[in-house]
Amino acid sequence: MTLPDTDAQHPAKADQAPVVHEPAAPLPNREIRATAGPDLAELMAPPPRTDDACLACKSVYNYPIARWDKMPLSVLGLPRSEREARHMRGLVMDVRQCATCSHVFHSDFNYDHIPYRTGSNLVYNDGSSWRKYHDDLVEEWVRDYDLVGKRVVEIGCGEGLFLERLAKHDNHCIGFEPGPDAERAAARGIEAYPEYFQGSRLFDLHADALICRHVIEHLANPLDFLEDIAIACCEADISPLFFAEVPLIEKAMEQNRINDFLYEHVSNFTRNSFRTMFERAGFDVLDVRARFDDEVVTLVARPTPKPLQRAVRLKATTFQKSVQRQIQRVRTTLLAWQEAGLKVALWGGTGKGAALINMFGIDSNLVSTVIDSDPRKSGGFVPGTGQEIRTPDHLRVNQVDRILICTNWRARDIEREIRDVHGFDTDLYVYLEESIQVLGPETQL
Ligand SMILES: [Zn+2]
Repeated sequence: MTLPDTDAQHPAKADQAPVVHEPAAPLPNREIRATAGPDLAELMAPPPRTDDACLACKSVYNYPIARWDKMPLSVLGLPRSEREARHMRGLVMDVRQCATCSHVFHSDFNYDHIPYRTGSNLVYNDGSSWRKYHDDLVEEWVRDYDLVGKRVVEIGCGEGLFLERLAKHDNHCIGFEPGPDAERAAARGIEAYPEYFQGSRLFDLHADALICRHVIEHLANPLDFLEDIAIACCEADISPLFFAEVPLIEKAMEQNRINDFLYEHVSNFTRNSFRTMFERAGFDVLDVRARFDDEVVTLVARPTPKPLQRAVRLKATTFQKSVQRQIQRVRTTLLAWQEAGLKVALWGGTGKGAALINMFGIDSNLVSTVIDSDPRKSGGFVPGTGQEIRTPDHLRVNQVDRILICTNWRARDIEREIRDVHGFDTDLYVYLEESIQVLGPETQL
């Protein structure tokens, strides 16, 4: 089992509305037994807003389910003496269910308490039905998604048992596993990396398919983990199939089963929350299916094409390159004017004018006269550089050769003010397209 290092905290994306789906149909072949439920007053109370964002959809509305203040690790904890067992650290396990997507998660979880680097997953299941389930699942995915002769990457490959099955279909199998199981995977012929998987690896792996089974429920930030992969796929211009599997909590919830909650399983997925999380992270979900007597859920997805991300990348990169270039250009022009002995006034002393003055480093040594149309600013000083801001009347007794208008979207209004209201015939210039340009009748602003 590989556990990608996704501990980095990302702010909740409050601007993105959570994706809400119709409630999943009851699990197949299940009768939901009536149990004593809450009274009407409890159901009428609004869902509490909390400080704990849902790990699947980031909603902060959730209901408390259960809380234990001292739970030991049970998936990666196996003490070797009674004394050690009794002195294991007790961890807070506060289980909540998201009001928006139905995800069940722990609100007080610390990934650092779990020794993934040194320990193996101790949940043991070598039963014949579990093995047959794996055999059948591999056959189904190979058949339905043409997984033959492909490059398949498993994130959290454990000892490589699942990849070993896929390798029999002429697939080149690559596994990531930071724990001690990586060596055992390598011994099965898997190209195994003893490390956490990062989305950036997708640039050189040339993966046709990604597999991630019984890993995502352990992650402190599963949505970030998936988004990292979706964004990397867009950057690398690839669209691998993503096959995922986690335990399914719906049946345990129906049966009021409490011992499905394990500290290491910070996420307990419903079909809806599993789908919601993938869609929110940037995937098109092709299939969601309850399996193994409804105790697990599988999902198949592809990264959603992201033309906006590619356009944003192009624009951001272009803009970044332009910043230094235009600072150089504008300063060169102003220095040339200074050397030529030209007197210059800047028009606009606060807001975008002040921003431009500071960004281009136009201090009072370079340009000392700053004018503003707004008389309320007269007597104030340019933030950061300190030129005194003056009214246009200042130019009647302190004539200048050139006026540089700092804000191009107001340039025509300012031009009319300069010409028609104040009657100045000074040459006008404007900051436009990375440089200082003459403001003439034909200038496209
Ligand atoms: Zn949620």
